[in-house]
Amino acid sequence: MAEILLKNAYVIDPISGINGEVMDIAISGSRIVEEASKKAEVIDVAGLLTLPGGIDSHTHTSGTKVNFGRYMSPEDMRAGRTSKKGHMHITSGYSVPTTYGNSYRYSALGYTTLVEGAMAPLEARHTHEEFKFTPLQDSFANTLFDGNWGMLRALEDGDIKRAAAIIAWTLTAVKGFAIKLTNPGGTEAWGFGKNVSCINETIPTFDLTPAEIIKGAIKANELLHLPHSVHLHCNNLGTPGNFTCTIGTFGHVPDVNDKRQSLYATHVQFHSYGGSGWGDFCSKSEPVANVVNFRPQIVIDMGQVMFGRTTTMTADGPMEFNLYRLHHDKWSNHDVELETGSGIIPVNYRRKNLVNSIMWAIGLELALLVKNPWQCLLTTDNPNGAPFVKYPEIIALLMSKRYRDAEFATIHQDTEKRVALPAIERELDWYDIAVMTRAGQARALGITDLGKGHLSPGAEADIAIYPIRIDEIDPSAEYERIVKGFSQTEYTIKRGRVVSRRGDAIIDGENTTFWVKPKVPAAYDMQHDTAFQELFERYYSIRMSNYPVQEEYLHRNHCIETETDL
Ligand SMILES: [Zn+2]
Repeated sequence: MAEILLKNAYVIDPISGINGEVMDIAISGSRIVEEASKKAEVIDVAGLLTLPGGIDSHTHTSGTKVNFGRYMSPEDMRAGRTSKKGHMHITSGYSVPTTYGNSYRYSALGYTTLVEGAMAPLEARHTHEEFKFTPLQDSFANTLFDGNWGMLRALEDGDIKRAAAIIAWTLTAVKGFAIKLTNPGGTEAWGFGKNVSCINETIPTFDLTPAEIIKGAIKANELLHLPHSVHLHCNNLGTPGNFTCTIGTFGHVPDVNDKRQSLYATHVQFHSYGGSGWGDFCSKSEPVANVVNFRPQIVIDMGQVMFGRTTTMTADGPMEFNLYRLHHDKWSNHDVELETGSGIIPVNYRRKNLVNSIMWAIGLELALLVKNPWQCLLTTDNPNGAPFVKYPEIIALLMSKRYRDAEFATIHQDTEKRVALPAIERELDWYDIAVMTRAGQARALGITDLGKGHLSPGAEADIAIYPIRIDEIDPSAEYERIVKGFSQTEYTIKRGRVVSRRGDAIIDGENTTFWVKPKVPAAYDMQHDTAFQELFERYYSIRMSNYPVQEEYLHRNHCIETETDL
């Protein structure tokens, strides 16, 4: 087996309790080991910052809506062209790049694992086919259940075990990883041209409220012992005044798991808005962050907005329709039979636009006001808030008050009265950043036992080495060096092989897709359940037997079997 010995690495590995130690890391095959033999290739990294490989716990890089984003924006495809170079394929696209574009650029930033934020079960094949061609990162798929008729019927009947059984069957069939709820009840209502405004409103087609759907899904999630918690995109995204809905939702979350959070709320920037309309729109990050600070059962990610062009895409069809009515630009809308919906709109976030300036401030505020970095993870909800290539700038903004002030001076002048950002002095440190970009993700996703997000012996050898010597940089003053240092690794190592060197992918990786298979007793095996079969026959456009994604569609895969309480 190939061996590598990384010498003199300056390691920050929060899960292993290491905060800045110069040490050697031995790799044998795909794993980190205690010691390497004399045959190991030695790489002296000479004190450079060495972190576990980055993990994006919420991004949109693969699947039908991502691909439709590419179709919709030829101007975006022209924006990010790179030519063939060595092992690297041609790439194109800026906010919605080709699969190789995503993979190379993430790898240059040191990212080795990606979670697709929203996979519609019916369209899962497409997601898995794109995972296959994202060769330098392992993949996980959040699977959409927000409008799943089988699950909603079971919840309506108060039968949590049946809901759990349907979730188990579906995750196994489509090779999904976790339960994703996008605007629960709202995407189902959108199939009939409607929406819901918050968690206590009964949805039009089932005798259920979003609150009941969320609580039911959390219970089912724990019955199935899934690694990750329910992954929620709250109701009412992007609406002035929606922070009350967000706080109300967080207030309902029970504390049911002692290893990880009970609820992961994604892109909370889009859910922390005050005001009664766009005229008095303002930040409400403070009350939202306060709730998170008092509720350890909740983990959020930022959903940071950065200025410039990007593409918004979400299962939240009604939200995208509202956005279309604001922008009157290109819009795509899609209803996924009895499961969910989706919408896509290209946008340009402008510094001189007051609403956009406030949105930019809110994401940063959340990251700075949530006290525990394990509870607020760094994302842009790529590409919704910004393409992920902006991560180095976000890291620098979080580490430097001076950088934030310099940026603040360039945005809409009325922003100051509507946000908390200028008064926040906090500057995050290297350890906080390591938590918010990999360790926190691994713990929140429940994948540390799979060897993700840390560098202790036995872990997967996924490692990012940045051209940064932390004792030579004052992050507060030299923020440009932070941006540069995190923009391109010196080495990105994936499963024990150097896959990227100074921004160039140097070999074709061999990624793995992780999926879950809850072990259910025969009485809860939906494959043989007559009512479930009838639901398929009656309402789906395809047969139940054609629905599952065969393992051939997965390049390499790792099935995580869970014991269940059914
Ligand atoms: Zn998302």
